[in-house]
Amino acid sequence: GLKDTDPATIFDKIIAGEIPASVVKEDDHILAFKDINPMAPAHILVIPKDRNGLTRINRATPEHTNILGRLLVAAGEIAKDETLGFGDGARIVINDGPDGGQEVMHLHLHVLGGKKLNGQLG
Ligand code: 5GP
Repeated sequence: GLKDTDPATIFDKIIAGEIPASVVKEDDHILAFKDINPMAPAHILVIPKDRNGLTRINRATPEHTNILGRLLVAAGEIAKDETLGFGDGARIVINDGPDGGQEVMHLHLHVLGGKKLNGQLG
């Protein structure tokens, strides 16, 4: 992105096709692929193709409203996709920063499901 001077991450290589990923959904703005280390029977990551400063959700500004909406719409579509192993419901998570357990500094939504998850967040 124009205003993005933060270091590239592994997700840039996935977007560029330089390392393989199991892509489940893609358009001009977002990419969704299976997590390499799934924490649930179904575990998909949804990312913006143009990070545009969104290393983490606490960098979000009103200029990101459109892409944030697109990410949520994609996550909701994925969360009801039985071919990906989802049943009736899922959990959509954003880890923010070190205290939130974020490791890859390129905003991503986790879509978790494929079993009945407990009611706890952490
Ligand atoms: P975070 O902890 O940053 O919220 O989540 C990063 C996620 O990215 C982790 O669940 C991790 O398993 C996943 N991940 C890290 N590297 C790769 C990779 O190269 N390919 C895929 N598909 N997932 C990755």
